[in-house]
Amino acid sequence: MTARHFISRPSRQVLRQAARLLGRGRLVAFPTETVYGLGADAASDRAVAAIYAAKRRPWHNPLIVHVASIAAARRLARFDSRAERLARRFWPGPLTLVLRRRPGARLSRYISAGLGTVALRIPANPVALALIRQSRCPVAAPSANSSGRVSPTRAQHVRQSLGGRVSLIIDGGACAVGLESTVIDLSGKAARLLRPGGVPLEALSNVIGPIVVEDPDTDERRPASPGRLLSHYAPSRPVRTNAQEPRVGEAYLGFGGCSQGATLNLSTRADLEEAAANLFAMLRALDRPEFTAIAVAPIPRHGLGRAINDRLRRAAAPRRP
Ligand code: AMP
Ligand code: MG
Repeated sequence: MTARHFISRPSRQVLRQAARLLGRGRLVAFPTETVYGLGADAASDRAVAAIYAAKRRPWHNPLIVHVASIAAARRLARFDSRAERLARRFWPGPLTLVLRRRPGARLSRYISAGLGTVALRIPANPVALALIRQSRCPVAAPSANSSGRVSPTRAQHVRQSLGGRVSLIIDGGACAVGLESTVIDLSGKAARLLRPGGVPLEALSNVIGPIVVEDPDTDERRPASPGRLLSHYAPSRPVRTNAQEPRVGEAYLGFGGCSQGATLNLSTRADLEEAAANLFAMLRALDRPEFTAIAVAPIPRHGLGRAINDRLRRAAAPRRP
């Protein structure tokens, strides 16, 4: 791949080329409404292994598979009535369902990291949908960044964090939601929240009733949610949350009226959707050596605020060596 087509706007020709690359087991980064995904043919062991290698992702952390229709999803996993209702209401959209994998499903065994389940989603982004349709395969696509770091919400972020490790980056502009999908585990009797994200928990329980929310401080040791490592989404600078104001030397990420001394503001009108869309890009923008740390204003905990606080808590968690 020459540098010339490394980052491309999503023309019909580029989508065709991207689908061909996926078919040959290569990695293609593409925009979704949540964050940019690092896509590969989910049926190919070699392609899926390449995702883990490019991201330096731990092997015990399974991948989300992206499909273009509910019918395609049903071929890969068993849908019960809760899954049907959620899929009909929220797909395409930022909701991932963890379901029991169908025996014989056309999926690499590496997708599920040894679990009997598979995580599925239909993205609400026309470029992503067109690419999945054209590639005619389920597309595994974790966020297109090195494992543990801040997720990419612009094509430029993908280039910065994965550089030469991907064949093509499709530039679809800024991601509309800007936070990863909400992950709900429906493989057991009780529905469980594995990751708060772009669909607020309240909206989901309106459709299927109560959802078990795990204690965020113990979930790291739970085998059913292997991806929920405590330190994640981490910029290079330390992060300090719930900061009413900055300390000397810190960058300050404000929210609403909490903006005294703010270097940037997630949303001056205290809008959680706007804050979610800005979060990762602003954390990246403030991740500069002249700051000792990034202090972040308090964010309300309802609606999308649950997911924003989750990401900030992980960004601020003690780092592994
Ligand atoms: P990302 O890498 O950003 O796409 O995140 C994918 C998330 O989905 C991680 O938190 C994974 O651990 C989770 N996930 C994917 N597949 C499964 C599965 N089969 N069971 C439980 N969690 C899963
Ligand atoms: Mg990720």
